[in-house]
Amino acid sequence: AKTEGKGTYRFFEAAMGAQIRERRSLEHDLRSAIANGELSLAYQPQAQVDTGEVNGFEVLLRWNHPTRGPVSPSTFIPIAEESGSILKIGEWVMHEACREAANWMRPLAIAVNVSALQLTSDGFVEFVRRTLEDTGLPPERLEIEITETALIRDPNRALLTLQKLKAIGVNLAMDDFGTGYSSLSNLRAFPFDKIKIDRSFIHEVHDNPQAAAIVRAVLGLGRGLGLPVIAEGVETSEELSFLGSEGCTEAQGYLFGRPAPIGEFVPLLSNNVVA
Ligand code: C2E
Ligand code: CA
Ligand code: CA
Ligand code: CA
Repeated sequence: AKTEGKGTYRFFEAAMGAQIRERRSLEHDLRSAIANGELSLAYQPQAQVDTGEVNGFEVLLRWNHPTRGPVSPSTFIPIAEESGSILKIGEWVMHEACREAANWMRPLAIAVNVSALQLTSDGFVEFVRRTLEDTGLPPERLEIEITETALIRDPNRALLTLQKLKAIGVNLAMDDFGTGYSSLSNLRAFPFDKIKIDRSFIHEVHDNPQAAAIVRAVLGLGRGLGLPVIAEGVETSEELSFLGSEGCTEAQGYLFGRPAPIGEFVPLLSNNVVA
């Protein structure tokens, strides 16, 4: 048993070493990803529940690694966050997204994810202000999506940043709502304009009565606080009709469109929508 234990330990040690090397390798490659043109943006429509009309898009970062191919953001974003490269990457995303949205004929909203490190970094608000000025995107068309985890890191500083962002006219959405641990008090303490229900709940509304109850409760909360609620991860028309019957007004998910290069949505961006 003793030798077996040792062997198991060695096995884990080796596996962990491999994981660390993998991480370091991605971390290293990420540093040149912008310069090498490996990053791109995918856009996913956000639609009106009752009419299906598109109100805006969420921007999702994509990394096409030269040898590994596409790497998922849930793999590389945490690495970028830990190594600090999210700061440069986040600036690139924000600038690209605002520049793109400023060109559209229709004044659709553009939602950009912002990480904890970005939110609490020096000069973030000034960077956003300058980006809006440079690209000519009106501040009210930009929505910044922030998770609770990003607030908890340094709540005082996060609050100050959110207040400054509100002051320049940018909208704020609380992302992944329901997955954090003190959602209610955070909604009260921070100046959010919108609640985004996490897709883990939407996904289960038909199989799990608890998930359905949580979605109902979040919609009630939104009504009570006067905050619009958007549901993410809507994949089926059953999920959509549940949301509609519970008073949810906005939704996002594969049902309306998968995240894709903006070129795929060109008809939605012009003034004369045929739909
Ligand atoms: P998120 O902000 O919660 O984004 C929603 C995720 O759900 C996206 O995954 C999207 O592709 C996926 N999704 C959308 N509709 C559906 C659906 O109907 N069904 C299912 N199963 N999934 C759906 P993605 O693109 O892999 O991004 C994962 C996470 O990476 C995002 O979660 C966000 O936290 C982070 N991320 C992505 N882009 C950025 C970025 O530019 N900056 C930062 N800081 N984080 C980003
Ligand atoms: Ca998001
Ligand atoms: Ca607002
Ligand atoms: Ca989510």
